[in-house]
Amino acid sequence: MPQDKNNTTPINVKLLLIGNSSVGKSSLLLRFSDEQWLPEDEASATIGVDFRVHKMDVKGKKVKLSIWDTAGQERFRTITSSYYRGAQGIILVYDVSSRESFDALPRWYSELETYVSESVVKIVVGNKLDKEYSRQVPTAEAEAFAQRMNSLFVEASAKTSVGVRDAFRNVVERILDTPELWEPAKKRAKGSKGNEENLRTGESMPGNIDLNAPGGSPEGADAGCGC
Ligand code: GDP
Repeated sequence: MPQDKNNTTPINVKLLLIGNSSVGKSSLLLRFSDEQWLPEDEASATIGVDFRVHKMDVKGKKVKLSIWDTAGQERFRTITSSYYRGAQGIILVYDVSSRESFDALPRWYSELETYVSESVVKIVVGNKLDKEYSRQVPTAEAEAFAQRMNSLFVEASAKTSVGVRDAFRNVVERILDTPELWEPAKKRAKGSKGNEENLRTGESMPGNIDLNAPGGSPEGADAGCGC
């Protein structure tokens, strides 16, 4: 269904979390969507979040966010291409107390280059800001890196919730400022199955670079969905 004039039909936005294992991707998602924090020792055993839907009002528009977590795929250094399909925003997470996780970001960017179009909004999130005492990545360095990569930047803590809402809101705002990412192309809108269906199949979604790739089945787009 096309966006209505009264803005009552939500704009579907798909965000992805990527970054090394243990930087806190699941924790950020849980904090943002459920206002929840699991004690450190319980987290890795318990967190199995891989998909959350969250509604928000941004710039006078209703937005239905679907936020996807890697569900541990990154441990094997391969994330299926279907994970990236239809994404309009990418949240690249590192841990401010882990130089290694920050140094891994260029690798994540090169993977992104393969799978998403350049207009897709990116934000670098330095998580675990509460661990200031063991910081290994200076803010200025990370900020400069994000700027070079044409990305937004925020430091946050899933533990204390500082910066978490900003991180998600900033990405969504930038996406709304880029209509080509969410306004369906006219010829596709005509006779399309509607945004809800498109969200699940990746069909007609801007940012989708290869709908018909081998293995690019609608089921593939749902891989890892725990919903
Ligand atoms: P993921 O593998 O990137 O999804 O990371 P997890 O969300 O599973 O978190 C890995 C570990 O880091 C867990 O023990 C979390 O409790 C811990 N963690 C996540 N976010 C934070 C944070 O903001 N501060 C602190 N101190 N620990 C965090």
